[in-house]
Amino acid sequence: MNTSDNSYIDVDSLELKDVIDINVLQSFQDNFARSMDIASVTVDVNGNPVTEPSSYTDFCMDFTHNTKIGDSRCAESHKRGGEEAARSGKPYIYRCHAGLIDFAAPILVNGKQIGTILGGQILTSVPLESDFRKTAREIGVHEEGYIKALKKVKITSEKNVEAAAEVLFIVANAFSKIGYEELKLKRISKDLEGEVLKKNLLIEESNKYNNLKTQLFSTVSHELKTPINIIYSSLQLLDSFNNGDSFILMSDTFSKYSNIMKQNCYRLIRLINNLIDMNKIEVGFFSLNLRNNDIVKVIEDIALSVVEYANLKNINLIFDTEIEEKVIAFDSEKFERIILNLLSNSIKFTKSGGNIYVNIYDENENVLISVKDTGIGIPEDMLEKIFDTFTQVDASFRRNAEGSGIGLSLVKSLVELHGGTITAQSKLGNGSEFIIKLPMKLIEDKVDTHKNESNSVNNNVEKTKIEFSDIYFT
Ligand code: ADP
Repeated sequence: MNTSDNSYIDVDSLELKDVIDINVLQSFQDNFARSMDIASVTVDVNGNPVTEPSSYTDFCMDFTHNTKIGDSRCAESHKRGGEEAARSGKPYIYRCHAGLIDFAAPILVNGKQIGTILGGQILTSVPLESDFRKTAREIGVHEEGYIKALKKVKITSEKNVEAAAEVLFIVANAFSKIGYEELKLKRISKDLEGEVLKKNLLIEESNKYNNLKTQLFSTVSHELKTPINIIYSSLQLLDSFNNGDSFILMSDTFSKYSNIMKQNCYRLIRLINNLIDMNKIEVGFFSLNLRNNDIVKVIEDIALSVVEYANLKNINLIFDTEIEEKVIAFDSEKFERIILNLLSNSIKFTKSGGNIYVNIYDENENVLISVKDTGIGIPEDMLEKIFDTFTQVDASFRRNAEGSGIGLSLVKSLVELHGGTITAQSKLGNGSEFIIKLPMKLIEDKVDTHKNESNSVNNNVEKTKIEFSDIYFT
Protein backbone atom coordinates (compact mmCIF):
# COMPACT_ATOMS: atom_id res chain seq x y z
CA MET A 1 0.00 0.00 0.00
CA ASN A 2 1.42 3.38 -0.98
CA THR A 3 0.00 5.72 1.65
CA SER A 4 1.61 8.81 0.12
CA ASP A 5 -0.37 8.31 -3.08
CA ASN A 6 -3.30 10.73 -3.25
CA SER A 7 -5.25 8.37 -5.48
CA TYR A 8 -5.84 6.00 -2.63
CA ILE A 9 -8.35 8.54 -1.24
CA ASP A 10 -11.41 8.38 -3.46
CA VAL A 11 -11.96 12.13 -4.02
CA ASP A 12 -15.11 11.55 -6.04
CA SER A 13 -16.98 10.31 -2.98
CA LEU A 14 -15.59 13.02 -0.65
CA GLU A 15 -17.93 15.45 1.05
CA LEU A 16 -16.97 18.75 2.67
CA LYS A 17 -17.58 17.34 6.16
CA ASP A 18 -15.05 14.54 5.46
CA VAL A 19 -12.28 17.07 4.89
CA ILE A 20 -13.11 20.02 7.17
CA ASP A 21 -14.51 20.15 10.68
CA ILE A 22 -17.75 22.07 10.03
CA ASN A 23 -17.67 23.61 13.53
CA VAL A 24 -14.23 25.11 12.89
CA LEU A 25 -15.43 26.38 9.53
CA GLN A 26 -18.51 27.93 11.12
CA SER A 27 -16.42 29.67 13.76
CA PHE A 28 -14.05 31.12 11.12
CA GLN A 29 -16.96 32.21 8.95
CA ASP A 30 -18.74 33.95 11.87
CA ASN A 31 -15.54 35.83 12.83
CA PHE A 32 -14.77 36.76 9.23
CA ALA A 33 -18.29 38.08 8.68
CA ARG A 34 -18.34 40.03 11.95
CA SER A 35 -14.92 41.64 11.50
CA MET A 36 -15.44 42.51 7.81
CA ASP A 37 -19.13 43.33 8.21
CA ILE A 38 -19.82 41.11 5.23
CA ALA A 39 -22.23 38.18 5.02
CA SER A 40 -20.77 34.70 4.57
CA VAL A 41 -21.86 31.09 4.12
CA THR A 42 -20.27 27.82 2.95
CA VAL A 43 -22.01 25.68 0.35
CA ASP A 44 -21.51 22.25 -1.21
CA VAL A 45 -20.88 21.70 -4.92
CA ASN A 46 -24.61 22.06 -5.62
CA GLY A 47 -24.77 25.45 -3.92
CA ASN A 48 -26.61 24.16 -0.83
CA PRO A 49 -25.45 25.58 2.55
CA VAL A 50 -23.44 23.33 4.88
CA THR A 51 -22.97 26.06 7.54
CA GLU A 52 -25.38 28.47 9.20
CA PRO A 53 -25.44 31.89 7.51
CA SER A 54 -23.19 34.51 9.17
CA SER A 55 -24.22 38.21 9.27
CA TYR A 56 -26.80 37.79 6.51
CA THR A 57 -28.57 40.97 5.34
CA ASP A 58 -32.35 41.34 5.82
CA PHE A 59 -32.49 41.70 2.05
CA CYS A 60 -31.28 38.14 1.56
CA MET A 61 -32.54 36.48 4.76
CA ASP A 62 -36.07 37.91 4.92
CA PHE A 63 -36.76 38.34 1.22
CA THR A 64 -34.57 36.82 -1.51
CA HIS A 65 -34.12 33.44 0.23
CA ASN A 66 -37.62 33.50 1.61
CA THR A 67 -39.47 32.13 -1.42
CA LYS A 68 -38.90 28.81 -3.09
CA ILE A 69 -37.99 30.37 -6.42
CA GLY A 70 -35.69 32.95 -4.78
CA ASP A 71 -33.93 30.28 -2.74
CA SER A 72 -33.32 28.04 -5.74
CA ARG A 73 -31.99 31.02 -7.75
CA CYS A 74 -29.59 31.74 -4.86
CA ALA A 75 -28.37 28.10 -4.87
CA GLU A 76 -27.86 28.26 -8.62
CA SER A 77 -25.96 31.53 -8.27
CA HIS A 78 -23.74 30.12 -5.47
CA LYS A 79 -23.03 27.04 -7.53
CA ARG A 80 -22.01 29.07 -10.55
CA GLY A 81 -19.77 31.34 -8.43
CA GLY A 82 -17.99 28.33 -6.93
CA GLU A 83 -17.50 26.67 -10.34
CA GLU A 84 -16.05 29.83 -11.87
CA ALA A 85 -13.64 30.29 -8.97
CA ALA A 86 -12.54 26.65 -9.16
CA ARG A 87 -12.06 26.91 -12.92
CA SER A 88 -9.99 30.12 -12.75
CA GLY A 89 -8.08 29.19 -9.59
CA LYS A 90 -8.71 32.71 -8.26
CA PRO A 91 -11.26 34.35 -5.95
CA TYR A 92 -14.27 35.02 -8.15
CA ILE A 93 -16.22 38.27 -7.69
CA TYR A 94 -19.62 38.39 -9.35
CA ARG A 95 -23.10 39.87 -9.24
CA CYS A 96 -25.69 37.45 -7.86
CA HIS A 97 -29.07 36.80 -9.51
CA ALA A 98 -30.68 39.47 -7.32
CA GLY A 99 -28.03 42.10 -8.19
CA LEU A 100 -25.79 42.16 -5.09
CA ILE A 101 -22.00 41.64 -5.18
CA ASP A 102 -20.80 38.22 -3.97
CA PHE A 103 -17.41 36.47 -4.09
CA ALA A 104 -16.51 32.81 -4.05
CA ALA A 105 -13.45 30.89 -2.80
CA PRO A 106 -13.41 27.20 -3.75
CA ILE A 107 -12.38 24.34 -1.47
CA LEU A 108 -10.47 21.87 -3.62
CA VAL A 109 -9.14 18.41 -2.88
CA ASN A 110 -6.56 17.10 -5.30
CA GLY A 111 -7.96 19.51 -7.93
CA LYS A 112 -11.58 18.52 -7.36
CA GLN A 113 -14.02 21.07 -5.94
CA ILE A 114 -15.95 19.84 -2.92
CA GLY A 115 -17.43 23.15 -1.73
CA THR A 116 -17.24 26.94 -1.74
CA ILE A 117 -16.88 29.61 0.94
CA LEU A 118 -18.97 32.60 -0.09
CA GLY A 119 -18.91 36.22 1.07
CA GLY A 120 -20.79 39.31 -0.04
CA GLN A 121 -24.37 40.63 -0.05
CA ILE A 122 -22.86 44.08 -0.61
CA LEU A 123 -22.87 46.80 -3.28
CA THR A 124 -20.11 48.93 -4.81
CA SER A 125 -22.45 51.66 -6.09
CA VAL A 126 -25.98 52.96 -5.54
CA PRO A 127 -28.32 50.46 -7.20
CA LEU A 128 -30.95 51.03 -9.83
CA GLU A 129 -34.24 50.45 -7.98
CA SER A 130 -36.19 49.35 -11.05
CA ASP A 131 -34.04 46.20 -11.51
CA PHE A 132 -34.73 45.14 -7.90
CA ARG A 133 -38.47 45.81 -8.20
CA LYS A 134 -38.48 43.47 -11.22
CA THR A 135 -36.68 40.75 -9.20
CA ALA A 136 -39.13 41.21 -6.31
CA ARG A 137 -42.03 40.51 -8.65
CA GLU A 138 -40.28 37.54 -10.26
CA ILE A 139 -39.46 35.79 -7.02
CA GLY A 140 -42.73 36.83 -5.38
CA VAL A 141 -41.69 39.04 -2.43
CA HIS A 142 -43.22 42.27 -1.12
CA GLU A 143 -41.85 44.97 -3.45
CA GLU A 144 -41.76 47.90 -1.04
CA GLY A 145 -40.26 45.85 1.77
CA TYR A 146 -37.64 44.54 -0.67
CA ILE A 147 -36.61 48.08 -1.67
CA LYS A 148 -36.54 49.13 1.99
CA ALA A 149 -34.21 46.19 2.80
CA LEU A 150 -32.06 47.00 -0.26
CA LYS A 151 -31.44 50.46 1.11
CA LYS A 152 -29.87 48.90 4.21
CA VAL A 153 -27.32 46.92 2.12
CA LYS A 154 -23.76 48.10 2.72
CA ILE A 155 -22.05 50.01 -0.12
CA THR A 156 -18.28 49.60 -0.13
CA SER A 157 -15.35 50.16 -2.48
CA GLU A 158 -14.31 47.60 -5.08
CA LYS A 159 -10.88 47.49 -3.44
CA ASN A 160 -12.47 46.38 -0.17
CA VAL A 161 -14.40 43.66 -1.96
CA GLU A 162 -11.23 42.42 -3.64
CA ALA A 163 -9.36 42.36 -0.34
CA ALA A 164 -12.15 40.45 1.43
CA ALA A 165 -12.35 37.99 -1.48
CA GLU A 166 -8.58 37.45 -1.30
CA VAL A 167 -8.77 36.72 2.47
CA LEU A 168 -11.51 34.19 1.89
CA PHE A 169 -9.54 32.59 -0.94
CA ILE A 170 -6.38 32.21 1.18
CA VAL A 171 -8.34 30.71 4.07
CA ALA A 172 -10.27 28.34 1.78
CA ASN A 173 -6.95 27.15 0.37
CA ALA A 174 -5.51 26.58 3.84
CA PHE A 175 -8.66 24.70 4.91
CA SER A 176 -8.39 22.49 1.84
CA LYS A 177 -4.75 21.62 2.50
CA ILE A 178 -5.01 21.09 6.26
CA GLY A 179 -8.26 19.15 5.95
CA TYR A 180 -6.88 16.94 3.22
CA GLU A 181 -3.65 16.20 5.10
CA GLU A 182 -5.67 15.38 8.20
CA LEU A 183 -7.88 13.12 6.16
CA LYS A 184 -4.85 11.30 4.79
CA LEU A 185 -3.43 10.91 8.29
CA LYS A 186 -6.76 9.57 9.53
CA ARG A 187 -6.86 7.04 6.70
CA ILE A 188 -3.25 6.02 7.33
CA SER A 189 -3.87 5.62 11.05
CA LYS A 190 -7.00 3.59 10.28
CA ASP A 191 -4.97 1.36 7.97
CA LEU A 192 -2.28 1.05 10.61
CA GLU A 193 -4.92 0.18 13.21
CA GLY A 194 -6.15 -2.55 10.87
CA GLU A 195 -2.59 -3.83 10.41
CA VAL A 196 -1.99 -3.83 14.17
CA LEU A 197 -5.26 -5.70 14.70
CA LYS A 198 -4.26 -8.27 12.08
CA LYS A 199 -0.82 -8.68 13.65
CA ASN A 200 -2.39 -9.05 17.11
CA LEU A 201 -4.66 -11.78 15.78
CA LEU A 202 -1.62 -13.55 14.34
CA ILE A 203 0.22 -13.23 17.66
CA GLU A 204 -2.83 -14.59 19.49
CA GLU A 205 -3.04 -17.48 17.06
CA SER A 206 0.65 -18.24 17.38
CA ASN A 207 0.40 -18.02 21.19
CA LYS A 208 -2.46 -20.50 21.06
CA TYR A 209 -0.35 -22.88 18.99
CA ASN A 210 2.61 -22.39 21.30
CA ASN A 211 0.42 -23.22 24.29
CA LEU A 212 -0.91 -26.30 22.52
CA LYS A 213 2.65 -27.31 21.67
CA THR A 214 3.72 -26.90 25.30
CA GLN A 215 0.69 -28.87 26.45
CA LEU A 216 1.44 -31.56 23.89
CA PHE A 217 5.04 -31.89 25.12
CA SER A 218 4.10 -31.99 28.78
CA THR A 219 1.23 -34.46 28.20
CA VAL A 220 3.26 -36.69 25.94
CA SER A 221 6.28 -36.68 28.22
CA HIS A 222 4.12 -37.46 31.26
CA GLU A 223 2.19 -40.11 29.39
CA LEU A 224 5.40 -41.68 28.10
CA LYS A 225 7.23 -41.47 31.40
CA THR A 226 4.59 -43.16 33.56
CA PRO A 227 4.27 -46.45 31.65
CA ILE A 228 7.99 -46.55 30.84
CA ASN A 229 8.83 -46.15 34.54
CA ILE A 230 6.43 -48.96 35.40
CA ILE A 231 7.85 -51.24 32.70
CA TYR A 232 11.39 -50.41 33.81
CA SER A 233 10.69 -51.10 37.52
CA SER A 234 8.98 -54.38 36.62
CA LEU A 235 12.02 -55.40 34.57
CA GLN A 236 14.33 -54.46 37.45
CA LEU A 237 12.23 -56.55 39.79
CA LEU A 238 12.34 -59.51 37.42
CA ASP A 239 16.08 -58.98 37.12
CA SER A 240 16.49 -59.25 40.88
CA PHE A 241 15.38 -62.88 40.64
CA ASN A 242 18.38 -63.60 38.48
CA ASN A 243 21.09 -64.65 40.92
CA GLY A 244 23.93 -65.30 38.54
CA ASP A 245 23.51 -68.81 37.09
CA SER A 246 19.84 -69.52 37.65
CA PHE A 247 16.59 -67.59 37.36
CA ILE A 248 14.45 -68.31 40.44
CA LEU A 249 10.96 -67.09 39.85
CA MET A 250 7.47 -68.33 40.68
CA SER A 251 5.29 -68.46 37.58
CA ASP A 252 2.50 -66.31 39.16
CA THR A 253 5.04 -63.57 40.04
CA PHE A 254 6.28 -63.68 36.47
CA SER A 255 2.79 -63.47 35.03
CA LYS A 256 1.92 -60.58 37.41
CA TYR A 257 4.84 -58.46 36.19
CA SER A 258 4.44 -59.57 32.62
CA ASN A 259 0.79 -58.36 32.75
CA ILE A 260 1.81 -55.04 34.27
CA MET A 261 4.33 -54.55 31.48
CA LYS A 262 1.81 -55.55 28.83
CA GLN A 263 -0.80 -53.12 30.14
CA ASN A 264 1.74 -50.31 30.05
CA CYS A 265 2.81 -51.25 26.53
CA TYR A 266 -0.89 -50.99 25.59
CA ARG A 267 -0.97 -47.58 27.18
CA LEU A 268 1.94 -46.48 25.03
CA ILE A 269 0.31 -47.97 21.93
CA ARG A 270 -2.93 -46.10 22.75
CA LEU A 271 -1.12 -42.81 23.17
CA ILE A 272 0.77 -43.21 19.91
CA ASN A 273 -2.42 -44.30 18.06
CA ASN A 274 -4.34 -41.31 19.40
CA LEU A 275 -1.57 -38.88 18.49
CA ILE A 276 -1.26 -40.31 14.98
CA ASP A 277 -5.03 -40.15 14.42
CA MET A 278 -5.29 -36.65 15.87
CA ASN A 279 -2.63 -35.51 13.47
CA LYS A 280 -4.26 -37.27 10.50
CA ILE A 281 -7.61 -35.64 11.28
CA GLU A 282 -5.97 -32.24 11.64
CA VAL A 283 -4.29 -32.42 8.23
CA GLY A 284 -7.37 -34.00 6.64
CA PHE A 285 -5.83 -37.42 5.87
CA PHE A 286 -8.18 -39.45 8.01
CA SER A 287 -10.66 -41.55 6.08
CA LEU A 288 -13.58 -43.66 7.22
CA ASN A 289 -14.21 -47.18 6.04
CA LEU A 290 -17.98 -46.91 5.74
CA ARG A 291 -20.09 -50.10 5.49
CA ASN A 292 -23.80 -50.75 5.88
CA ASN A 293 -23.84 -52.55 9.19
CA ASP A 294 -26.04 -53.23 12.21
CA ILE A 295 -25.11 -50.44 14.62
CA VAL A 296 -27.10 -52.07 17.47
CA LYS A 297 -25.09 -55.29 17.25
CA VAL A 298 -21.72 -53.46 17.12
CA ILE A 299 -22.53 -51.34 20.17
CA GLU A 300 -23.97 -54.31 22.09
CA ASP A 301 -20.89 -56.47 21.39
CA ILE A 302 -18.50 -53.78 22.50
CA ALA A 303 -20.55 -52.97 25.63
CA LEU A 304 -20.74 -56.64 26.62
CA SER A 305 -17.00 -57.09 26.13
CA VAL A 306 -16.44 -54.42 28.79
CA VAL A 307 -18.79 -55.87 31.44
CA GLU A 308 -15.94 -57.94 32.88
CA TYR A 309 -13.72 -54.84 33.29
CA ALA A 310 -16.52 -52.88 34.93
CA ASN A 311 -17.12 -55.75 37.33
CA LEU A 312 -13.45 -55.68 38.36
CA LYS A 313 -14.22 -52.23 39.84
CA ASN A 314 -17.55 -53.49 41.20
CA ILE A 315 -19.46 -51.38 38.65
CA ASN A 316 -22.58 -52.71 36.87
CA LEU A 317 -22.79 -52.22 33.12
CA ILE A 318 -26.33 -52.42 31.76
CA PHE A 319 -27.06 -52.48 28.03
CA ASP A 320 -30.56 -51.75 26.68
CA THR A 321 -31.95 -50.86 23.29
CA GLU A 322 -35.21 -49.53 21.86
CA ILE A 323 -34.48 -51.10 18.46
CA GLU A 324 -33.37 -54.68 17.84
CA GLU A 325 -31.54 -53.99 14.61
CA LYS A 326 -30.62 -50.91 12.62
CA VAL A 327 -28.48 -51.15 9.51
CA ILE A 328 -26.80 -47.86 8.69
CA ALA A 329 -23.53 -46.77 7.10
CA PHE A 330 -20.68 -46.37 9.60
CA ASP A 331 -17.09 -47.37 10.23
CA SER A 332 -17.46 -50.15 12.81
CA GLU A 333 -13.83 -50.08 13.90
CA LYS A 334 -13.94 -46.33 14.57
CA PHE A 335 -17.26 -46.71 16.35
CA GLU A 336 -15.85 -49.40 18.62
CA ARG A 337 -13.10 -46.94 19.56
CA ILE A 338 -15.65 -44.20 20.20
CA ILE A 339 -17.71 -46.39 22.55
CA LEU A 340 -14.63 -47.87 24.25
CA ASN A 341 -13.34 -44.36 24.90
CA LEU A 342 -16.61 -43.28 26.49
CA LEU A 343 -16.85 -46.50 28.52
CA SER A 344 -13.25 -46.22 29.68
CA ASN A 345 -14.02 -42.68 30.99
CA SER A 346 -17.19 -43.92 32.69
CA ILE A 347 -15.28 -46.71 34.45
CA LYS A 348 -12.44 -44.32 35.31
CA PHE A 349 -14.70 -41.70 36.89
CA THR A 350 -17.27 -43.97 38.59
CA LYS A 351 -16.71 -45.34 42.07
CA SER A 352 -17.22 -48.94 43.18
CA GLY A 353 -20.92 -49.83 43.46
CA GLY A 354 -21.91 -47.42 40.65
CA ASN A 355 -23.72 -48.13 37.38
CA ILE A 356 -23.05 -47.55 33.70
CA TYR A 357 -25.92 -47.64 31.18
CA VAL A 358 -25.49 -48.02 27.44
CA ASN A 359 -28.75 -47.30 25.63
CA ILE A 360 -29.78 -47.05 22.00
CA TYR A 361 -32.81 -45.03 20.92
CA ASP A 362 -34.56 -44.55 17.60
CA GLU A 363 -35.18 -40.86 16.88
CA ASN A 364 -36.76 -40.12 13.47
CA GLU A 365 -33.79 -39.69 11.14
CA ASN A 366 -31.15 -40.49 13.79
CA VAL A 367 -29.90 -43.23 16.04
CA LEU A 368 -29.15 -41.98 19.56
CA ILE A 369 -26.46 -43.78 21.54
CA SER A 370 -26.23 -42.86 25.21
CA VAL A 371 -23.40 -43.78 27.60
CA LYS A 372 -24.45 -42.76 31.08
CA ASP A 373 -22.80 -43.27 34.46
CA THR A 374 -23.42 -42.56 38.13
CA GLY A 375 -19.86 -41.25 38.58
CA ILE A 376 -18.30 -38.06 39.89
CA GLY A 377 -19.90 -35.85 37.20
CA ILE A 378 -18.49 -32.84 35.35
CA PRO A 379 -18.80 -29.19 36.43
CA GLU A 380 -21.19 -27.24 34.19
CA ASP A 381 -18.53 -24.80 32.99
CA MET A 382 -16.40 -27.71 31.75
CA LEU A 383 -19.11 -29.54 29.77
CA GLU A 384 -18.15 -27.88 26.44
CA LYS A 385 -14.42 -27.69 27.15
CA ILE A 386 -13.84 -31.40 27.82
CA PHE A 387 -14.11 -31.97 24.05
CA ASP A 388 -11.06 -29.72 23.51
CA THR A 389 -7.69 -31.42 23.16
CA PHE A 390 -5.74 -31.84 26.43
CA THR A 391 -8.61 -30.63 28.62
CA GLN A 392 -9.04 -32.44 31.90
CA VAL A 393 -11.32 -31.34 34.73
CA ASP A 394 -8.62 -32.32 37.22
CA ALA A 395 -5.28 -31.77 35.51
CA SER A 396 -3.20 -31.84 38.71
CA PHE A 397 -0.47 -34.42 39.06
CA ARG A 398 -2.17 -35.69 42.21
CA ARG A 399 -5.41 -36.47 40.33
CA ASN A 400 -7.09 -39.81 40.96
CA ALA A 401 -7.35 -40.92 37.35
CA GLU A 402 -4.71 -41.16 34.65
CA GLY A 403 -5.30 -39.79 31.16
CA SER A 404 -4.07 -37.49 28.47
CA GLY A 405 -7.12 -35.33 27.68
CA ILE A 406 -7.00 -36.52 24.06
CA GLY A 407 -9.79 -39.15 24.16
CA LEU A 408 -12.90 -36.97 23.96
CA SER A 409 -11.54 -34.61 21.35
CA LEU A 410 -10.76 -37.61 19.17
CA VAL A 411 -14.21 -39.11 19.87
CA LYS A 412 -15.84 -35.82 18.82
CA SER A 413 -13.83 -35.68 15.58
CA LEU A 414 -14.68 -39.32 14.76
CA VAL A 415 -18.41 -38.76 15.42
CA GLU A 416 -18.38 -35.61 13.31
CA LEU A 417 -16.61 -37.42 10.46
CA HIS A 418 -19.69 -39.69 10.48
CA GLY A 419 -21.93 -36.60 10.15
CA GLY A 420 -23.07 -36.97 13.75
CA THR A 421 -22.86 -34.93 16.95
CA ILE A 422 -21.87 -35.66 20.53
CA THR A 423 -23.04 -33.76 23.59
CA ALA A 424 -22.47 -34.15 27.32
CA GLN A 425 -24.89 -33.63 30.18
CA SER A 426 -23.92 -33.89 33.78
CA LYS A 427 -24.70 -33.00 37.36
CA LEU A 428 -21.65 -32.74 39.56
CA GLY A 429 -21.64 -35.66 42.00
CA ASN A 430 -24.53 -37.43 40.24
CA GLY A 431 -22.96 -38.73 37.04
CA SER A 432 -22.57 -37.88 33.37
CA GLU A 433 -24.27 -38.79 30.11
CA PHE A 434 -22.72 -38.64 26.64
CA ILE A 435 -25.20 -38.73 23.76
CA ILE A 436 -24.18 -39.47 20.19
CA LYS A 437 -26.63 -38.56 17.45
CA LEU A 438 -25.90 -40.47 14.28
CA PRO A 439 -27.80 -39.89 11.00
CA MET A 440 -29.50 -42.99 9.57
CA LYS A 441 -27.86 -43.13 6.16
CA LEU A 442 -26.97 -46.00 3.87
CA ILE A 443 -24.32 -46.29 1.21
CA GLU A 444 -24.63 -48.27 -2.02
CA ASP A 445 -23.04 -51.62 -2.95
CA LYS A 446 -21.39 -52.42 0.37
CA VAL A 447 -22.08 -55.68 2.17
CA ASP A 448 -22.49 -56.18 5.87
CA THR A 449 -19.02 -57.19 7.02
CA HIS A 450 -19.53 -57.27 10.74
CA LYS A 451 -21.08 -60.77 10.83
CA ASN A 452 -18.19 -62.16 8.78
CA GLU A 453 -15.51 -61.03 11.19
CA SER A 454 -14.59 -64.35 12.79
CA ASN A 455 -12.03 -62.85 15.12
CA SER A 456 -14.19 -59.96 16.30
CA VAL A 457 -14.23 -61.22 19.93
CA ASN A 458 -10.44 -61.42 20.07
CA ASN A 459 -10.26 -58.11 18.30
CA ASN A 460 -12.50 -56.54 20.90
CA VAL A 461 -10.45 -57.97 23.76
CA GLU A 462 -7.28 -56.51 22.30
CA LYS A 463 -8.90 -53.14 21.56
CA THR A 464 -10.43 -53.01 25.03
CA LYS A 465 -7.03 -53.70 26.58
CA ILE A 466 -5.58 -50.81 24.60
CA GLU A 467 -8.41 -48.35 25.30
CA PHE A 468 -8.59 -49.28 28.99
CA SER A 469 -4.83 -49.30 29.50
CA ASP A 470 -4.78 -46.17 31.67
CA ILE A 471 -7.22 -47.66 34.19
CA TYR A 472 -5.46 -49.60 36.95
CA PHE A 473 -7.83 -52.22 38.34
CA THR A 474 -6.31 -52.89 41.78
P1 ADP B 1 -8.66 -38.38 29.58
O1 ADP B 1 -7.65 -39.18 28.83
O2 ADP B 1 -8.07 -37.40 30.55
O3 ADP B 1 -9.77 -39.19 30.14
P2 ADP B 1 -10.70 -37.36 27.82
O4 ADP B 1 -10.58 -36.39 26.68
O5 ADP B 1 -11.25 -38.70 27.53
O6 ADP B 1 -9.26 -37.42 28.46
O7 ADP B 1 -11.56 -36.68 28.93
C1 ADP B 1 -11.30 -35.34 29.30
C2 ADP B 1 -11.75 -35.07 30.71
O8 ADP B 1 -13.19 -35.05 30.78
C3 ADP B 1 -11.33 -36.10 31.72
O9 ADP B 1 -10.01 -35.87 32.20
C4 ADP B 1 -12.37 -35.88 32.82
O10 ADP B 1 -12.00 -34.79 33.64
C5 ADP B 1 -13.64 -35.51 32.04
N1 ADP B 1 -14.54 -36.69 31.83
C6 ADP B 1 -14.69 -37.40 30.69
N2 ADP B 1 -15.62 -38.36 30.84
C7 ADP B 1 -16.06 -38.26 32.11
C8 ADP B 1 -17.03 -38.99 32.89
N3 ADP B 1 -17.75 -40.00 32.36
N4 ADP B 1 -17.24 -38.59 34.18
C9 ADP B 1 -16.54 -37.54 34.69
N5 ADP B 1 -15.61 -36.84 34.03
C10 ADP B 1 -15.38 -37.16 32.74
